[in-house]
Amino acid sequence: MHTSIAGGLHLSLERAHELRCTTMQIFSHNPRGWAVKEISGKDRELFHRLKKELDISPVYIHTSYLINMASQSKILRRKSINLLKEEMERADALGAEYVILHTGSAAHDDKKAARKRAVHALEAALKEGMWQAGLLLENTAGAKGDITSEVAELAEIQGKLGSLVAGVCIDTCHAFQAGYNIKKPEGTGQLAEEIEKYLGRDSVKLIHLNDSKADTGHHRDRHEHIGRGYIGTKGLKAFVRHEMFLNVPIILETPKKTDTDDIRNLKAVRKFF
Ligand SMILES: [Zn+2]
Ligand SMILES: [Zn+2]
Repeated sequence: MHTSIAGGLHLSLERAHELRCTTMQIFSHNPRGWAVKEISGKDRELFHRLKKELDISPVYIHTSYLINMASQSKILRRKSINLLKEEMERADALGAEYVILHTGSAAHDDKKAARKRAVHALEAALKEGMWQAGLLLENTAGAKGDITSEVAELAEIQGKLGSLVAGVCIDTCHAFQAGYNIKKPEGTGQLAEEIEKYLGRDSVKLIHLNDSKADTGHHRDRHEHIGRGYIGTKGLKAFVRHEMFLNVPIILETPKKTDTDDIRNLKAVRKFF
């Protein structure tokens, strides 16, 4: 489950444990702000100890929504590079295994040129880093300007960065919105085939399992509760049970309107196995 850090970073681990999760994702700071407060020595120590004690692994850190490695603004790219470095730094401070990034978007430019900028920016951010945490690139919903909603697009960037990135995260809602109709076995099959062909099956290090508020191909990034959206129980169950994804950790980023939402969504997914 994506859990909240409200009240202290380590509380996210307790929340995950309470939900009987063995893996979790967090934002390590407010994802809608550039300002980041340093993690104190005490907080680091507390997180490390609790992570080990509660046996939560891997821990994923989702990067800030403000980061845009493909931005046409040089200033924004520079800020994005710096914040990504900071996110990696924080992941290491907490002992988190992976950092998740939406590569970027450039609505007023050719996608290919935008991807090139993203590759350069990612190289600048990652080349001198000796981080333990691995960076994962996430597929996006394909809204106007998105540069990595298709597997081949993710692969183009991953291919140029080589070992600087650790792999990819596949989000079911985003894939469905980008036009992979995973409600049906053929859609999941097509997605898996493209992953095999362009990325290699071992590159998928995380599944974001979300249902979708909109029907396939609408490029709308609106997550829905498991089984209540357009992908539905059958589609999501077949997806996670596909042999390519069967051993990949799953994180839910489903809506949290009431206290019971997480419990109910997790219960629905546990029934898949
Ligand atoms: Zn996601
Ligand atoms: Zn999303």
